[in-house]
Amino acid sequence: MADCELCGVARPTLCPVKVNDPSVKAAYPTGTWRGINEECLNSCHEANLNRVPVNGAKKCDLCGIKNVPFFLVRTRVPIFHEPYHREVDKALCESCLEACEETLKRREAEKEEEHHH
Ligand SMILES: [Zn+2]
Ligand SMILES: [Zn+2]
Repeated sequence: MADCELCGVARPTLCPVKVNDPSVKAAYPTGTWRGINEECLNSCHEANLNRVPVNGAKKCDLCGIKNVPFFLVRTRVPIFHEPYHREVDKALCESCLEACEETLKRREAEKEEEHHH
């Protein structure tokens, strides 16, 4: 099990998303990987379509970049009583949203591949 780096929920497998973390940019100029679960990947996809601006966010919840426009990502965290999840709002930068789209496209392409074999 591994914890999703966006919502913190543990899953057997995570989806790798390539982000530009400004704090390690010197060491990893082409970007580093973050692991998020499939639910969050879908939330990011929705967020990318809706592009709801977040005002007052200090930094991107995935890559940590500051002073750029942020967009709302609504994640669902499971809880042990009704309604068995709660919505937690996160703020992501545009580049992370696009990185999530890349991951989604890659996964879809992989699924297609499996289908043909
Ligand atoms: Zn998550
Ligand atoms: Zn970001």
